[in-house]
Amino acid sequence: MKIIMLGAPGAGKGTQAKRIAEKFGIPHISTGDIFRANIKNGTELGKEAKKYMDEGKLVPDELTVRILLDRVKDADCSKGYVLDGFPRTIPQAEVLDSELAKLNEKVDYAVDVDVPDENIVKRMSGRRACLNCGATYHLEYLKPAKDGVCDKCGSELVLRDDDKPETVNKRLKVYHEQTQPLIDYYSKKQILHAVDGTVDPDEVFKAIEAILK
Ligand code: ADP
Ligand code: ADP
Ligand code: ZN
Repeated sequence: MKIIMLGAPGAGKGTQAKRIAEKFGIPHISTGDIFRANIKNGTELGKEAKKYMDEGKLVPDELTVRILLDRVKDADCSKGYVLDGFPRTIPQAEVLDSELAKLNEKVDYAVDVDVPDENIVKRMSGRRACLNCGATYHLEYLKPAKDGVCDKCGSELVLRDDDKPETVNKRLKVYHEQTQPLIDYYSKKQILHAVDGTVDPDEVFKAIEAILK
């Protein structure tokens, strides 16, 4: 089963993708997490990606596609995967589709987690991320058991540089210009399913489970 998560930055794609991955026993693949892990480890890829991420811009398609296609070749992806934050542009979606077609495969579901822009800035300023394991929390809505500490791995939680309001506004603009057209793209392929992302995370997950049945 191959699932794509669509939605604005902060809509809850990552939160839901992790739950889907757990329920279906498939890997959760976040291009943002891959980039952040590379930045943390000081790799060349990380240095290149950081230039764009800090500006709230997208990392160029060529680089992003290469990373993603490499990852989905890993053995743990043989039963499928849930992609979180990829594709983010029409060209990325087209490359994914054509690479899958070569293997006689396809994307099964595109789930759009719908949250209006007004809610996003507030969500992002409260987001706290674990840069070690990729877990995310929220100061109000999804608190860790102990303030500032990741429940899963014990690392320190941080406000991501790109979650500051100025950068969030830029990312929202980029989302509307470059990523939102994917809603139409997958709708035409008749695999698009929208869920209301403004309700409680458990409710959002129930709606997604009903779609994936
Ligand atoms: P969020 O889920 O909050 O939008 P991500 O962790 O998915 O954030 O992505 C963080 C940043 O990493 C993006 O703003 C962008 O710069 C870069 N990035 C992640 N995925 C992609 C992608 N598919 N194409 C281009 N850039 C990407
Ligand atoms: P994305 O991957 O789309 O950027 P995240 O899953 O990281 O989004 O969620 C963004 C922030 O909002 C995080 O702090 C997360 O804990 C919180 N969050 C996620 N889903 C909900 C929800 N349904 N209601 C309120 N806050 C949420
Ligand atoms: Zn952690």
